[in-house]
Amino acid sequence: MNCIFCEIIEKQRPAQIIYEDEHVIAFEDIHPQAPVHVLVIPKKHIPTSLDIQDEDNDLIGYLFQTANKIAKEKRIAGRGFRLVMNSNREAGQTVFHIHLHLLGGRIMHWPPG
Ligand code: AMP
Ligand code: ZN
Repeated sequence: MNCIFCEIIEKQRPAQIIYEDEHVIAFEDIHPQAPVHVLVIPKKHIPTSLDIQDEDNDLIGYLFQTANKIAKEKRIAGRGFRLVMNSNREAGQTVFHIHLHLLGGRIMHWPPG
């Protein structure tokens, strides 16, 4: 399979990994859009949010819990942060392995661009 995030999981592509366990992995975004910009991804290859199945529900909850834990560690939890998952082309999804963008460390604007 030709997936850059699976390559990061398999350690075939370098990344600044900040957290890893048997279910999820988190690493620094290569083009950060905020002082904190971490990608939190499941190790299971799921192409888009539309492909999340009932059997993945615990995994997706755990993905959010992991993002929360990193937000606390990065000391942005109390200040505020944003979790974003882009789905398909008009949302700007470029990597088709689901990932939560954890963004923080600056004021976030709304509506997003
Ligand atoms: P999206 O546009 O929502 O699919 O987000 C993909 C994100 O992955 C972008 O923010 C990219 O900067 C990031 N990205 C792409 N390749 C890498 C990589 N090799 N290591 C870390 N982040 C990456
Ligand atoms: Zn993948």
